[in-house]
Amino acid sequence: MKNAHIGAVVAILAAVSGAAPGLEAQSRNGDAPASVVPLKVIYVNYINRKANACVDFNDFANGAWLTKDVIPAAYSTSGVARDMSDRNELVVRSVLDDAMAKRKSLPVQSTERKLGTFYATCMDSAGAERAGIASIEPELRAISAITSKTALLHQIARMQMHGADVAFGYGPDVDPHDAAHYLGGFGAGGLGLPDRDYYVKTDPSSDSLRVAYVDHITKLLTLAGESEAQARGEAKRILALETELAKPQLTRVERREPSASDHPMTLAAFHAITPSIDWDAYFKDVGASTAAAKLNVAEPKFFSRLNTLIASAPLDDWKVYLRYHEIQGAASWLSTPFVNENFKFSQKFSGAKQLLPRWKRCLRETDQVVGEALGQAYIAKSFSPQARTRAKSVIDDIRAAFGERVKKLDWMSAKTKQQALIKLERMGEKVGYPDTWRDYTKLEADEGAFALNVQRANEFEWKRTINRPGLAVDTTEWGITVPTVNAYYNPQKNEMVFPAGALAPQTFDPKADDAANYGALGGSWAGHELTHGFDDEGRHFDAAGNLTDWWQPSDSAKFSKEAQKVVDQFNSYIQIDTLHVNGKLTLGENIADYGGLLTAYDALQRALKRNGRPGSIEGFTPEQRFFLGYAQSWRNHTRPEEMRTRVTLDPHAPEKWRVNGPLSNIAAFAAAFGCKPGDPMVRAAALVPHIW
Ligand SMILES: [Zn+2]
Repeated sequence: MKNAHIGAVVAILAAVSGAAPGLEAQSRNGDAPASVVPLKVIYVNYINRKANACVDFNDFANGAWLTKDVIPAAYSTSGVARDMSDRNELVVRSVLDDAMAKRKSLPVQSTERKLGTFYATCMDSAGAERAGIASIEPELRAISAITSKTALLHQIARMQMHGADVAFGYGPDVDPHDAAHYLGGFGAGGLGLPDRDYYVKTDPSSDSLRVAYVDHITKLLTLAGESEAQARGEAKRILALETELAKPQLTRVERREPSASDHPMTLAAFHAITPSIDWDAYFKDVGASTAAAKLNVAEPKFFSRLNTLIASAPLDDWKVYLRYHEIQGAASWLSTPFVNENFKFSQKFSGAKQLLPRWKRCLRETDQVVGEALGQAYIAKSFSPQARTRAKSVIDDIRAAFGERVKKLDWMSAKTKQQALIKLERMGEKVGYPDTWRDYTKLEADEGAFALNVQRANEFEWKRTINRPGLAVDTTEWGITVPTVNAYYNPQKNEMVFPAGALAPQTFDPKADDAANYGALGGSWAGHELTHGFDDEGRHFDAAGNLTDWWQPSDSAKFSKEAQKVVDQFNSYIQIDTLHVNGKLTLGENIADYGGLLTAYDALQRALKRNGRPGSIEGFTPEQRFFLGYAQSWRNHTRPEEMRTRVTLDPHAPEKWRVNGPLSNIAAFAAAFGCKPGDPMVRAAALVPHIW
């Protein structure tokens, strides 16, 4: 959740094809609501009885399903995340259908009316067809009218407020060294492709992707009324400008080291490295009442390059760049030719064969821009107080088990242990739904073009937070919406967050046995998120969320040595074709999976002691069901195009390795399934990392 780049790309891809890693959903019968199968934590009929659990446990746990699964045309993946999203989206759809039907009888300022208006204007495909590109023409004219660098900066500010990622990123951030307060955060940005690597890599597939990108820009500009020749010339200049913005940006692996983006500075110091940019005017444009006194400039090298580009790149290059981004940002909500072109380009990354049904695209966008308005209604329909209580008790056991593990670690000094336990003690948790809901009184939505409602919602969000620098951090705020099938750990708030959308079968079932729940919710989610507080990135933040080194140097050295074993282990796995998993990019997630599993296993043992040990269920012991619950929670089938995209973008390893990787390091797993030294699922002792 910390990475704005991933967020932006995921939003673009999800809107057109459902290609958001980890967030996919699916309707099996096209536009009709899916007939949702009852969800469970463990499906014994998905087990491949012909597979050997000690050779390939993922095949054993999920193989019978995988051989039969066909990914539906509109999707890039299928599996648990999509099944759960299917279920959640049906609930959300019923909320939105209600709101849409009765909106005009509701008070103008009511949140439900606004929800209904958002969804209704999005569903109005006939209106979108009639309007073509008309809704954004005033903005395109404003871009054409730019005649100075001052006016350019003004337009950049305006488009950022509407949600566009142009030129750079700005927004309030938690102060890395004073986590109780916000500061002004400047970050690198402005790219149309999902990562800086796509601009600088020189292999054949990156080359052909850049050719496709130029074609895509050309097509959108042509649809907007330019001649093909003019559009192509502009597209090349846009790629050239974005390439200059991409070159100085940190790689995803470099960004995993928090100190790489830690550059506190005053506005005067920032002025000194960016003399061609009038930040006072910018702050005024974006509605910041006083220029932020304290800044963090995540990537000074990027801003120094941006300064040169603002000063010296032709104004016309910047204008065509903004023009493209304005069109691209709205394309999913314009007439069919724009929608189709956007989808066509997204297919390069997702492999999806057809567009998602409109209701799903509209539902996801509504959730994206006004999601918290949906949360309350979703909760009323689909999450019980009992479910929240049971989920919390699993999480409590996980916390206790992690504390016990820390105390027993043989590689860590007492001093560092003490700090780790304080961090654990102070780690916050949010389960189910927010205690305070966002106030949407100032949000505007009208019955006109949906593309403009999206811009209004982004502007509402911008204004809601823009004057935060200097203020106390809002500790009640959530970073994802309630129906989302995801969870996160935020190191700057030292808290883990589990929305109701993720606390449902197949990850958690209040009626299921402890072993299934501790394997799935405990291992894949609660133990995993908690361990993020202590992974290669999270460990640099203290109990209060401040970026500070609380480790004894010898403990840091030992941690790094063991973490390197995890890097090496995952580097050795194939992601797709000849491409290997990036062990460094996925290190935090792999540490979290491994530590989360060990912790959840201990937590299960506590629960079994407390609640009594059941006999075998469906032919499996509690320990076996624990590992099955974990493995089945990562049941997944992904198209090759998306798997290739994930090598560059996704800090998570492919699900197969998220199962087999950590399990082959765990003695309790070998014991549960009778695996012997030398079996592929039992790694040699010297290779097994000892971290959490
Ligand atoms: Zn994670």
